[in-house]
Amino acid sequence: GATIGVLGGGQLGRMLAHAGNRLGYKFVTLDPTPDSPCGQTAEQIVAKYDDRDAARELAKRSDVITYEFENVDADVAAMLEAESYVPQGSKLLYTTQHRLREKRAIEAAGATVAPYAEIVSLEGLQDAAARLGLPAVLKTATGGYDGKGQWVLRSEDELAPAWEQASKAGTELVLEQFIRFDKEISVIAARSPSGEVRTFPPAENVHVRNILHLSIVPARESAEVLAEAERLAVSIAETLGVVGLIAVEMFVTADGKLFVNELAPRPHNSGHYTMEACRTSQFEQHVRAICDLPLGNPSLLTPVVMANILGEHMEPLMAWMKSHDAVANKLGVEPKVHLYGKAEAKHMRKMGHVNVLAPNVEAALEWISQSDIWRV
Ligand code: ATP
Ligand code: MG
Ligand code: MG
Repeated sequence: GATIGVLGGGQLGRMLAHAGNRLGYKFVTLDPTPDSPCGQTAEQIVAKYDDRDAARELAKRSDVITYEFENVDADVAAMLEAESYVPQGSKLLYTTQHRLREKRAIEAAGATVAPYAEIVSLEGLQDAAARLGLPAVLKTATGGYDGKGQWVLRSEDELAPAWEQASKAGTELVLEQFIRFDKEISVIAARSPSGEVRTFPPAENVHVRNILHLSIVPARESAEVLAEAERLAVSIAETLGVVGLIAVEMFVTADGKLFVNELAPRPHNSGHYTMEACRTSQFEQHVRAICDLPLGNPSLLTPVVMANILGEHMEPLMAWMKSHDAVANKLGVEPKVHLYGKAEAKHMRKMGHVNVLAPNVEAALEWISQSDIWRV
């Protein structure tokens, strides 16, 4: 069978390998941390992401190369694209690694982003804040995740201190108008090299301290808004010429307007619900897309709520796993546990997730609220 090389050895690579193994593919991953979540189920080359020799070694051992992490070195990805087979291409990575390039691409696809400005000086920040209005969010253009590299600006006297800190980050900056959204949703689209596109049902996402806590599916939004969200995701996938997955994060306002927040050209945390709840998981779909197999059926089998397990949730989760849960029985919910094999259960670190399959999302949410796992 063919071997898939994965830049990045985190949980996304691990779940990709699980799905790909079932289809007969072998996996090799490149990651600096020995015994990475993906490396536990695949071969691993232990090296930094910008190590060109290690990248060439990955290429030598693989028939197809993909990435599970969008901050891998775009130049290394470009080198691999020139020298071996990277169906997603390095251009997609180059675009989505930089918030300004990403926003221009989203706009080119006919979608709306929060009004924004590129910031290169304190004066520029003050002008932009006056023009866009406060509150606003100052973000580093590159490298941010889980809300890192962001400053919410609520009053004019917060501009100078934020500039002071943000300008030290050594990347370009962007100021965005703060969108008073009603909900956050995401749509994951898959596109194959031949141009076939399928979308997974939109997820309604709840964040706690800037980290995804819950994905609720079906999202509790009108059918019109959800159809429009899927249409935008298809348009973005087509305009960017995506091969593989693209996750599209969006804000929904009370009057049903959609703003695209950001993109991720890989499996996405908000798509983990697909593992049991859809006919095809996002991981299988990604493998199918990059290997040019026909895409699978993404339709929903059951209502579901995905809840992330962070380091602080591990102890109560382990206790719960050994228990016989009468509440789950009574509510008719079936919680499915996925753990990523990370050794250290650090505070706020993603250790796993639970897909709570249920007769309706209210029952799943009720089980989560009664559970001791997320009390900490
Ligand atoms: P991720 O872990 O999803 O990659 P990130 O660090 O790249 O996160 P964003 O997704 O841009 O950051 O923002 C994190 C969260 O902050 C969003 O999910 C949203 O809740 C809030 N947020 C970001 N930008 C805005 C905005 N312009 N208006 C209102 N809220 C915002
Ligand atoms: Mg992000
Ligand atoms: Mg985000």
